[in-house]
Amino acid sequence: MKANCWYGAEDLRVVDVPDPRILNPRDAIIKITSTAICGSDLHLYNGYIPAMMRGDILGHEFMGEVVEVGREVKNLKVGDRVVNPFPIACGSCFFCQESLYSLCENSNPNAWMAEKLWGHSTGGFFGYSHLVGGYAGGQAQYARIPFADVGPIKVPEGLSDEQVLFLSDAFPTGYMAAENCSIRPGDTVAVWGCGPIGQFAIKSAFLLGAERVIAIDRYPGRLRMAQNESGASVLNYASTDVKDALDDLTGGRGPDSCIDAVGLEAHLPGALGAYDRIKQKLRPQTDRPSVLRQAMMACRNGGILSIPGVYGGFVDKIPFGSLMNRSITIKTGQTHVQRYLRPLLERIENGEIDPSFVVTHRMRLDEAAAAFRLFRDHHDECIKVVLKPWEEQRPSTASTPRVQLH
Ligand SMILES: [Zn+2]
Ligand SMILES: [Zn+2]
Repeated sequence: MKANCWYGAEDLRVVDVPDPRILNPRDAIIKITSTAICGSDLHLYNGYIPAMMRGDILGHEFMGEVVEVGREVKNLKVGDRVVNPFPIACGSCFFCQESLYSLCENSNPNAWMAEKLWGHSTGGFFGYSHLVGGYAGGQAQYARIPFADVGPIKVPEGLSDEQVLFLSDAFPTGYMAAENCSIRPGDTVAVWGCGPIGQFAIKSAFLLGAERVIAIDRYPGRLRMAQNESGASVLNYASTDVKDALDDLTGGRGPDSCIDAVGLEAHLPGALGAYDRIKQKLRPQTDRPSVLRQAMMACRNGGILSIPGVYGGFVDKIPFGSLMNRSITIKTGQTHVQRYLRPLLERIENGEIDPSFVVTHRMRLDEAAAAFRLFRDHHDECIKVVLKPWEEQRPSTASTPRVQLH
């Protein structure tokens, strides 16, 4: 089969690899009909996540058709159309029983590696380095799904791939970020980062009753989407002092909750931003926490800081005194996607949300390297790329990728 493989920072290649096979009785194999590039894939692409190996298959947002099931998978059959959550979870350990699926104790065979970095391990994730299991990802024509009796959910034929694909990660991740804000009527929520996760956090904050959502980014296309698709107020941090603007908009008090949907590669102007970039290059700190700091300082007293953005290791110059003295609560975590699949599918079926609004580009799997560049560099106002693994490569007349705007 064809798969998008990592060969080093900024070196992706779509190559022929062996088809996956059933290894355990609870496995299934799915033929992938649609797969997406996630913002967190860029951290792998840019080389910020340790424990990647040459030839690793990327991708953790994917869906498709079941083509083979192990003998203990009773809930799926060949031919079922499914969307697959990015965390791999056994369904029966302490954490799965608590619905903390991304922390499954039985799905990361490399837990010892993660324990060295983090103290304790998470569960395993698809296509996201050997630190979290080294599982082959879904930017491929097929994938093996371990614990297939717990993860994938069947989707009705009436919904298109693009309406349900983001149940795999982006939609539940934005939703959990908003849910973690314990939103009450009248609340103002500020969201840093208007990529796909930010867009879903904004929509979810409104679904959960926020009065106002303030979206912060520097790319006009993303701010426009936040405004037009969800009715957010917008702030461009390149031209506005965010802290002052948020104070002005909230009577000097600050937003009730703040969502960092950016994570470890944040860009912010100013001296601390430059300090972070230099330190990250020299590696005494692994992550650039400029959004995190700004969100901490901006949040109202007694407010909630929710962090769906991915961090890998250590961060520096965190204003801990501000958090402690002002009673700020932090809520974070890799998304417990399995918990949200059914309720969020219901919201899609009810017409409360159509997640396909984030898709700006559709490309073939063999265009993956170009798609990553387009997404990373924000060219052509790219917000979300869906890759089609089975679309035939047409005899190409041009050397540029075929880009189709939404
Ligand atoms: Zn992701
Ligand atoms: Zn488990």
